[in-house]
Amino acid sequence: SVVTRFAPSPTGYLHVGGARTALYSWLYAKRNNGKFILRIEDTDLERSTPEAVQAILDGMSWLGMEGDGEVFYQTKRFDTYKKYVQQLVDEDKAYKCYCSKERLESLREEQEKNGERTKYDGKCRDLNDADQPADAPFVIRFKNPAEGAVEFKDSIRGDMRIANEEMDDLIIQRTDGTPTYNFCVVIDDWEMEMTHVIRGEDHLLNTPRQINIFEALGAPVPQYAHCSMILGDDGKKLSKRHGAVSVMQYRDDGYLPQAVINYLVRLGWSHGDQEIFSLEELFELFDINDINNSASAFNTEKLNWMNQQYMKSLPATEVAEHLSWHFNNMDIDVSKGPSLSAIVEIQAERVKTLKEMAEISTYFYKDFDALDEKAAKKHLRPVAKEALILAKEKLNALDNWQGSDIQAAINATAEELELGMGKVGMPLRVAVTGGGNSPSLDVTLELMDKSKVIERIANAIT
Ligand code: GLU
Repeated sequence: SVVTRFAPSPTGYLHVGGARTALYSWLYAKRNNGKFILRIEDTDLERSTPEAVQAILDGMSWLGMEGDGEVFYQTKRFDTYKKYVQQLVDEDKAYKCYCSKERLESLREEQEKNGERTKYDGKCRDLNDADQPADAPFVIRFKNPAEGAVEFKDSIRGDMRIANEEMDDLIIQRTDGTPTYNFCVVIDDWEMEMTHVIRGEDHLLNTPRQINIFEALGAPVPQYAHCSMILGDDGKKLSKRHGAVSVMQYRDDGYLPQAVINYLVRLGWSHGDQEIFSLEELFELFDINDINNSASAFNTEKLNWMNQQYMKSLPATEVAEHLSWHFNNMDIDVSKGPSLSAIVEIQAERVKTLKEMAEISTYFYKDFDALDEKAAKKHLRPVAKEALILAKEKLNALDNWQGSDIQAAINATAEELELGMGKVGMPLRVAVTGGGNSPSLDVTLELMDKSKVIERIANAIT
């Protein structure tokens, strides 16, 4: 059965590219009723931090991608890696290399000067036991096959072939006894019984090296799929310049995880011209063979569109849970105002993000410090005062605080004063919401307490 994994190095937040490969791996496991493993590749002790581990776990859980079973940490598996290094040494498939930094450095310079491929020359590869210097520091190198080629079929990029000649005898254990990255990956992918390795194309050159190690261990080689890069909307490699690259930044900016998932899956994968996919559909349809082999460009406008689709189509209660985070973040107590699902229902049409939705809805929960200057100047001219006074009186007289009655009171005010609807509605809107933009007044006012509405109209009149 299928086993996939996401194996981030915890050196920073979970970024969009990482999230997308995680998503592809997760979906592929789901689609095949398989297992999705989360593995933290924290062997680079200098660059890995606990904060980054947490940021990655947070990002994954915000997106709703949970690993199956325990989360693995490579730093907890050093004994295992050592055991296999020793096995390879015993089987003469790896060897101790005593070459000094200086020797390797001058070898490299020499090769560069001659226009040769820079590569370890194998000086220690065939040292006899008798020739091994005692007590000298050493690394352990893998004996890469000297001839032939590594061939594999990448699910995205097709047939690949790399000559062994092009590959170094990879260091698999450093002088200090710690195992190196490519070796740990192989051991883990083997022990964790990975069937499919889906990762970024930046690892494409590691793959033949890893395949040789799999083979030396007599381990089955997984199926590989290397995803193309994500570019910014200007065609350059996606980076901070393009705005958010951290997944959690998307939460902060007001995107729903469902929309981000849908957006990311479409960034490099398609199924006909369908844009919106429920998770259930993705679990049915997603296939690594359908991933594009060309780079995809990030498009914020499309993400915005998708986010709005989700805000409008998901159950309002579900959207409300995410909206609540934004009010919290803005320090606004929503316990005494309308339900957040009511807000979602009236505002989803008007905004692209939850952050905007919270921002334009604060008047429901909190008095504004001042009226929007431009709106006040435009709509609260002297003639408006009369309209506000009469509207306040009529609204105050209502027994039932409900939309249709509120609308009737506004209509009656306009009629009595022989004013157009706008000449009553707009001043009222500015008085009650503080600005010139809100959903229709009957709906807006109904969601507020009558006493609050009356109080705000009174404030605007004086
Ligand atoms: N740890 C690697 C990274 O963060 C991924 C390794 C892999 O997927 O094989 O780029």
